[in-house]
Amino acid sequence: MTRSTVPSAFPEARRRRTLRTAGEIAAVGLVPPERMADIEAVAARYAVAITPTLADLIDPTNPADPIARQFVPDVRELTSMPAERADPIGDDVHAPIKGIVHRYPDRVLLTPILHCPIYCRFCFRREKVGGAAAVLSESELAAALDYIHTHAQIWEVVITGGDPLMLPPSRLSDLVRALDAIPHVRVIRFHSRVPIGDPDRIGSALLDALDVETAVWIAVHCNHPRELSGPAAAACRRLSRAGIPLLGQTVLLKGVNDSPAVMEDLMRAMVASRIKPYYLHHLDLAPGTDHFRTSIARGQDIMRHLRGRVSGLCQPSYVLDIPGGHGKAPIGPVYLEGDLVEDWQGRKHRYPPSADD
Ligand code: SF4
Repeated sequence: MTRSTVPSAFPEARRRRTLRTAGEIAAVGLVPPERMADIEAVAARYAVAITPTLADLIDPTNPADPIARQFVPDVRELTSMPAERADPIGDDVHAPIKGIVHRYPDRVLLTPILHCPIYCRFCFRREKVGGAAAVLSESELAAALDYIHTHAQIWEVVITGGDPLMLPPSRLSDLVRALDAIPHVRVIRFHSRVPIGDPDRIGSALLDALDVETAVWIAVHCNHPRELSGPAAAACRRLSRAGIPLLGQTVLLKGVNDSPAVMEDLMRAMVASRIKPYYLHHLDLAPGTDHFRTSIARGQDIMRHLRGRVSGLCQPSYVLDIPGGHGKAPIGPVYLEGDLVEDWQGRKHRYPPSADD
C-alpha cells in the first residue's frame, strides 16, 4: 500500500506530530483504546516514537501491518527470554571510554547521541537509547576524538547511536570536520534511520555538514519495501546527488520481512533507491524481542531465494553478531562443500582441485 492509499480517518493536523504516548498513538487510530494500558506499560520501560512519515505508512485496518509491527509498542516487549541480554552484541566489553566501542583493530564505533527519530521495537540497543542523558557532553566527545587521534590503526569511524543524523547540523559539521582532520581516518560511516523515519532532515544544512574530503558513507536501516516510499526515496536521492554512497542494513524480523517475496521486494526497492544492500542481520538477543525472532534456517532459505532470482546488486551478507562481543560472522548459506559447488538453481557441480589442494 502506498502512502497515498493508506486510509486516514483523522485530520491531517493530528497526524503531523511524532507520536510518543499511548494517547497520541490511539488518537490517530493506530491502536484501539483497549490496548492503551499495554502501550503505556511498554512506554514506561522503553522509548517510543513514531514520526508522521512512518505513521502515514501504517494501514490501521491491518492488525498485522509490517510498519506498525516495527514501531507500535507491543505488550510482549515486557517478557524477556532467558537467552536475551541487555547488551546483546557485547558493546560494553569493548568500550575503553564513553562513546567509543573498539571491537576490531581498524575501526571504532562512535556514539555521540542515543536519540533516534523513531524507536524500533526490536532495537539491539534498546536499554540505552532514548534516555534523558543521551548525548555526549563536549568533554566526553573531545575524549572520544582524542582516543581516535591517538590510535593510528583506526582507518574507519562508524558513527552510530542512537541515530547520529539527529545531531543538529552545526554539531554534525564540527564532528565530521574533527574526524576529517585526523590523517589516519580515511572513512567516516554513519548508520541511520533518518532517511526512512524523518527524511525532511536530509536538507542542505545536513548535506553541507557531511561535505568533507574524507570519504563519507551512510548505511541506511530499512526493513520493509514500503519504508522506501516517496519521501524516503527522495531523501536517498539527495544524499546520492551529494556524492554519498548508500549501504543498506536490514534486520530479519518475523511478521515484517521473513518471507522471500517481501525480502526480494525490499532488496529491489533499496537498489532502485540507490542503496546497495550490505547486511541482513539475524535478530540480536535484545530483551523482549522474541516475537520478532526467526530461525537461522529461515534466513538462509530467504538468502537462497535471493541468490536464485535477484541481481547480484541486491545480495546482502547474512550475518550474526555473536553474543558476548565476538563480532559478526557470516551465516550462509554455503554454496561450496568439498569439490561440489551449487548453482543458483540448487544443482551441484564438481569443480576440479588445484595443485595447492
Ligand atoms: S534507529 Fe537504530 S538505534 Fe534507534 S531504535 Fe531503531 S534500531 Fe535502535
